[in-house]
Amino acid sequence: MDKALDFTIKNKIPGTLARTGTITTPHGVIQTPAYIGAATAATMKTLTNAEIDELGAQSILSNTYHLMLRPGANLIAAAGGIHQFMNYHKPLYTDSGGFQVFSLGMAYKKGLDATSHTTKGSSENAVMSPDQLSKVEKDGVWFKSHLNGDRIFMSPEISMELQHKIGADIHMSFDQLTSPLSGREQIKEAMDTTHAWAKRGLIRHEELNQQHVAAGENLQALFGVVQGAREEDFRLESAGFLGELTLETGAQFDGFGIGGTFQPEELPDVLTWVNGTLPENKPRHLLGMGAQPADLFLGAEFGCDTFDCVAPTRQARNGALYTYGGRINIKNLKFAEDFQPIDQNCDCYTCQHHTRAYLRHLFKANETTGLVLASIHNERFVVRTVEEIRQKINAGPEQFWQYKKEFLTDYYGAERAADFLATSPEEWR
Ligand SMILES: [Zn+2]
Repeated sequence: MDKALDFTIKNKIPGTLARTGTITTPHGVIQTPAYIGAATAATMKTLTNAEIDELGAQSILSNTYHLMLRPGANLIAAAGGIHQFMNYHKPLYTDSGGFQVFSLGMAYKKGLDATSHTTKGSSENAVMSPDQLSKVEKDGVWFKSHLNGDRIFMSPEISMELQHKIGADIHMSFDQLTSPLSGREQIKEAMDTTHAWAKRGLIRHEELNQQHVAAGENLQALFGVVQGAREEDFRLESAGFLGELTLETGAQFDGFGIGGTFQPEELPDVLTWVNGTLPENKPRHLLGMGAQPADLFLGAEFGCDTFDCVAPTRQARNGALYTYGGRINIKNLKFAEDFQPIDQNCDCYTCQHHTRAYLRHLFKANETTGLVLASIHNERFVVRTVEEIRQKINAGPEQFWQYKKEFLTDYYGAERAADFLATSPEEWR
């Protein structure tokens, strides 16, 4: 294909931001809304590609930060890019590395909040105190590898170079995160830095895509990442700036990522500000959403096309399994002689072949097969829920509202579900 990405809207729910559509990349099509599986270190933890395909995942997302440290972007490029390296030939996303640089490098838990950010003229002057794991400057950020403590510099240009070497289909621009402790002034400063970095990243991205054209390689797509925490004016400003950003060459972002961490109750407001402002004809990815099925419904209802999350596999490895009646912990004694599947209504491999009692046994005995079977189930549960959301939006508004009400009431109970149904039309609350 002669473009990096194509996006088509199929159906919408009038009066909302919800839509279905297709994202087309050189490695195939994603039907949206879609859940993008987390493949942090170029693997969806514990699962083979065959298992990823079987559970219905259309696309996965890997992490630039983890891959740059190990095995290194040059090694992946030498393998022919990440699709070849993994032998995974469907659409692939990478994030910019920003989240990990700031969350792993910054180590908020050590009492270092955003007030520790300092700006100095030259990177050569960068001095990090022993407990300071990252340091923001105008040009980029110094951070320490969580693997070996190496001091590493990351900038918007370097992030683009790494992502192009890794060679996924869709990249994210390098952004500056804020801590949950940040005040408005710090949020504003980080957002302004994010915007300056977004433009620099887009310029470098264009240059790298020209090299791909010259080499007869696939074009790669870049999403700008909207920041601004929970502040309405900043979110509107960030979505407006990135949505309109156009280089002298005419280059623009191919789509947008939405950064930040939210409780599900916060999604309607933040997504209304952001997705109500971003151009309608480009895809929007909710980055690293929470672990709640409510996020999937609210994300889609408020105009996100794709979502990623590490929670389904992470929780699976802890024995926390999703069911249509809520989450269970399979290690619990009450499942010792429970010979039903994890969920009667689940169509995953695990539920078609194994019982809760068997899963519990595997977890209690520390057998790795338990992690695989649990991960298959949780990933399928989330992938299928988003598949159903897509089908219901296509079938019409009433189908979507009814499914949302039934699913969330079964999962959370009526009282908790009411919080998430508040945005539905009155007759479907
Ligand atoms: Zn299952």
